[in-house]
Amino acid sequence: MPREIIQLECTSCKRNNYSLMKNKRKHSERLELKKYCPFERKRTVHKEAR
Ligand SMILES: [Zn+2]
Repeated sequence: MPREIIQLECTSCKRNNYSLMKNKRKHSERLELKKYCPFERKRTVHKEAR
């Protein structure tokens, strides 16, 4: 199974706040999620870091 651990990077402060497992076969596009950033203490867009 082509599962990989990916990092989610906050697009406004560029910190890696989350890591998660992704199935590359099911989701080939770059992830983009609204997540809570603990450094800014608000919800921001997080993108898959490479
Ligand atoms: Zn942030």
